Amino acid sequence: MKTNITGNLYIVPTPIGNYDDISQRAIKILKQVDYILSEDTRKTGILLKKYNITNRLNSYYEFNEKKKSNTILNHLQQGKNIALVSDAGTPLINDPGYRIIELCRRKDNNIRIIPLSGPCAAILALSASGLATNRFCYEGFLSKKHNKRIRRLEQLKLEYRTIILYESKYRILNCLYDIQNIFGKDRYVVIAKDLTKKWEQIYGNTIGKIIDWIKSDKNRLKGEIVLIIQGNKNITNNINMSKILPIIKILKKDLSTKKVINIISHIYSIRKNILYQIMLTDI
Ligand code: SAM
Repeated sequence: MKTNITGNLYIVPTPIGNYDDISQRAIKILKQVDYILSEDTRKTGILLKKYNITNRLNSYYEFNEKKKSNTILNHLQQGKNIALVSDAGTPLINDPGYRIIELCRRKDNNIRIIPLSGPCAAILALSASGLATNRFCYEGFLSKKHNKRIRRLEQLKLEYRTIILYESKYRILNCLYDIQNIFGKDRYVVIAKDLTKKWEQIYGNTIGKIIDWIKSDKNRLKGEIVLIIQGNKNITNNINMSKILPIIKILKKDLSTKKVINIISHIYSIRKNILYQIMLTDI
């Protein structure tokens, strides 16, 4: 039966390696809600035990998100309060949750969504990277498929903002080799491993040196990894690359490099040496 008072959906971040990193508010909400949506009930069960939380868990993961979302919405509309957690860190950031949040936010559904603050590996790594934090882009995981990964990296080569990537220990070396091949060995990268754990390591250097660093100790091929890549320093932030690149591509077909540079420089007031760099890349 529907009531006029709908429940709240709480997005609750959980620790990514250090159990102390859970907030008092997160514990309170996890205790108070009617039930907890969990990516992996076994893993969340361990976390709950740690804080003496005896609430009910309901599994919610990538492959049942779509099927379960309407039922969850019904519960919220009946006035139930629900918390959403993932295995670690902030739900929805490369973790399940998008479908239910999107559904709740639809105008007619009118469910209040309450996000709690807490750990997120991407933001932790960025904050400690020493790279520009005023503008950054989050790319999550690159494709496991080599060709797709290369294609995405080609697109990111001219990105001027700091780039955040997640990568698995199984693919990290191949991924770094691909970055080196496309961005050049001198691009500065910070690798953040096992953040918040006792053996946390954050190391920054040019990509070539990062590869040497990893290869010099096989333990560095273990654990959880965030890569922070310095943006392309030759590109200034007021150039709208997504607008300009397709135009360059068309002009390049019929005109010489010099003519393309002259035209684009004239129309968009971009320095010719920057355009020259762009023309050198495989666009
Ligand atoms: N929702 C999580 C968050 O807020 O960061 C991310 C989940 S995603 C499925 C898992 C990936 O996050 C890992 O493969 C790794 O790239 C990154 N990650 C998670 N915990 C980490 C840690 N303690 N140190 C470094 N990277 C971590």
